[in-house]
Amino acid sequence: MSGLIIDSDACRGCGICIKSCSYEALEMKDKKAQVNENCVLCGMCIESCPFDAIKIEKEKTNGIELEDYKDIWVFIEQNDGEIEPVSYELLSKARELSKERNCSVNALLLGEDISKEADKLFAYGANKVYISEYEILKDNLEEIYVEFLDKVVLDYKPEIFLFGATNFGRSIAPRIAARVKTGLTADCTILEIDEESGLLNQTRPAFGGNLMAQIVCPEHRPQMATVRPGVMEAVKKETNTKEVINIDMPSIKEPSIKILENIIEKKAESISDAEIIVSVGRGIGSQKNLALVERLAELLGGKVGVSRPLVDVGWADQKNQIGQTGSIVAPKLLVTFGISGAIQHLAGISGAETIISINTDKDAAIFTVANYKVVGDCVEILKSMISKLEKKCEKEQVV
Ligand SMILES: Cc1cc2nc3c(=O)[nH]c(=O)nc-3n(C[C@H](O)[C@H](O)[C@H](O)COP(=O)(O)OP(=O)(O)OC[C@H]3O[C@@H](n4cnc5c(N)ncnc54)[C@H](O)[C@@H]3O)c2cc1C
Repeated sequence: MSGLIIDSDACRGCGICIKSCSYEALEMKDKKAQVNENCVLCGMCIESCPFDAIKIEKEKTNGIELEDYKDIWVFIEQNDGEIEPVSYELLSKARELSKERNCSVNALLLGEDISKEADKLFAYGANKVYISEYEILKDNLEEIYVEFLDKVVLDYKPEIFLFGATNFGRSIAPRIAARVKTGLTADCTILEIDEESGLLNQTRPAFGGNLMAQIVCPEHRPQMATVRPGVMEAVKKETNTKEVINIDMPSIKEPSIKILENIIEKKAESISDAEIIVSVGRGIGSQKNLALVERLAELLGGKVGVSRPLVDVGWADQKNQIGQTGSIVAPKLLVTFGISGAIQHLAGISGAETIISINTDKDAAIFTVANYKVVGDCVEILKSMISKLEKKCEKEQVV
């Protein structure tokens, strides 16, 4: 039996646990505490019970042999035959992790007429590419993919399975995790192998980004995680071993959905891929000063990014917002003006190569991640940078 267990012999019916429960999951029956379906296994009642009458029992390994699970697998998402960039980012991370696990990096590529893409996957670190090419896999039909991947997990037993936190990845990964009875950590920002246990340490922002939670999955397999596009770096590095393995389509019941036509939505211009970003926060003071930011971005050939308060007050569009609830960016150069560096903002800029930050507060958190720190007024510095760049451009007659 698993779940919250109340030892009725030890329970004295004091009711302290009932008061401690925020979920109304405990009630008194025949002078003994009893648990109902509201229980989320938070454990507060265990700490509150003065008689040690409550415990949580968890099913151990779900009947599987952990040692049977090997290698790091990456689900390669394709749309219309084109591989999503996040897949390369995940392969690069998988290659890094595989060194510590001394295992193979396996890319799983499903689609129609897709095998020509395998070389690109080797270039980013895949040792083996598992391919299945069928017309039905052309459209990313969730129910087909979930059944297929469920079968892959049962047959090949990946130790770690990574997915991009795209709309599609977010939709299929939890369903697969539920089917194979394992855990899934969504939107990880850091993935590392724990030196002692060899487990995958999966770090993600929690409680509105106010703390970083480190999650492990010690007793179930695969260890599954999704990672948002742009969080990890895609690094080209070919592996020596290259193997292509074809997987047959498992027998899957007819999908309940039929795609009649694919209408590709025009992608909103995103700052995620920008190489240079001039980013601005509340320290800019007034909306009219944003014109200075736009001008500097223009002179540098970059795009404008903003912190969330500027979106909240309607000074900027959400598509320009950087951070946990905005875009994750990884520019070569990021210049920030009047941004404090709240954890939710920092969550979006960890991939930036060089950060120059301007802030009047010498202790601003943004300075902990900046490569170049300028303590000063952002409007003055903006004007000065614009004037210098304009003069330089005049000389060179560029802009
Ligand atoms: C669930 C959740 C999700 C969130 N998601 C995001 C997100 O995706 N992105 C995001 O940005 N925020 C997000 N936030 C908000 C976040 O917590 C911060 O409130 C926000 O990032 C602060 O923005 P800011 O740095 O522009 O403003 P402030 O924190 O007010 O900082 C302004 C900075 O400007 C400096 N300054 C003032 N005057 C000047 C001047 N003249 N010259 C130079 N510097 C000056 C100040 O010293 C200060 O450091 C989220 C919050 C929550 C709870």
